[in-house]
Amino acid sequence: MLLLEPPRPDPAPVAVHPVAALADAGPQVAPDKGHYEPSAIALMVTVHVLGVLGLFLFPPTWPLVALCVGSYYLRMFGITAGYHRYFAHRTYRTSRWFQFVLAFLGSTATQRGALWWAAHHRDHHRHSDQERDLHSPLRRGFWWSHIGWIVHSSSTETRWGNIKDFTKYPELVWLDNWRLFAPVVYAATLFALGGAPALFWGYFLSTAFLWHGTFVINSLCHVWGSRRFETTDTSRNNLWLALLTLGEGWHNNHHHYQSSVRQGWLWWEVDGSFYALKALEKLGIVWKLKSVPERVWTPGAASESVDPAKTADGGAAAIEALAVAEPAS
Ligand SMILES: [Zn+2]
Ligand SMILES: [Zn+2]
Repeated sequence: MLLLEPPRPDPAPVAVHPVAALADAGPQVAPDKGHYEPSAIALMVTVHVLGVLGLFLFPPTWPLVALCVGSYYLRMFGITAGYHRYFAHRTYRTSRWFQFVLAFLGSTATQRGALWWAAHHRDHHRHSDQERDLHSPLRRGFWWSHIGWIVHSSSTETRWGNIKDFTKYPELVWLDNWRLFAPVVYAATLFALGGAPALFWGYFLSTAFLWHGTFVINSLCHVWGSRRFETTDTSRNNLWLALLTLGEGWHNNHHHYQSSVRQGWLWWEVDGSFYALKALEKLGIVWKLKSVPERVWTPGAASESVDPAKTADGGAAAIEALAVAEPAS
């Protein structure tokens, strides 16, 4: 069984773009030194319990199921297209107002702020499945990678040094410091529009699913699926997880080449966030979507990454040089 794979030795150093060697974001708290955060656990437990309770208090109807699923995918878009592909990897460009919309929408998923999320994610790529990877299933087990790390004191703080390219926007820093603002606004809006049934199905139950839908990329997507590229981590490609996560399941593709806006690279590799971003591009809301250069398909090609935290301009110039723009269509 994949979950019982024996630990592998440290992988060889990753071949990265030269800009990635410029600096480091500093030390982080070692997981074996910290403790589990009672407030984070209480929030997790409360949302799960209220979500399940809602199933009994308000029996399912088609509108409630549609609300739960719609709320899940709307906010999954905030996480995948916003937190991940924009803030962590800068795979496309957008305006300051839409950048705030993405940060707000992602924040309603109750996974802390965009800058917290992206800063930790940059560490994940920098140290994938090595000792300093905060959520490697290889290092500390499946449940740690799935949920343990996020309720642990080693991950609580925003690693500002990893996300310097976005800290110049006070509205983003404010959202990051007030992590429950967007979730409360979102939940209150649901309650105002649809009463308690909408609150329980559209927020509590939907958020519990959304957490696990996101967390499987850190856990399952490093143990279950196929590997197209021999990356130095354990990332996999998995259709089922891609359907659950609007395309994030093509995680081996992503670890091989992180600067691409699309994670499903072949026509049948379903990638909902990419399709939505293409539609937003047509509307002029996002632009400069980066695609996959031919060279990364070459057999034996080294994985490539740019670490935006390590350059004075947030990696903008290096990312531009590394990635190629989508051909106009
Ligand atoms: Zn990533
Ligand atoms: Zn990964």
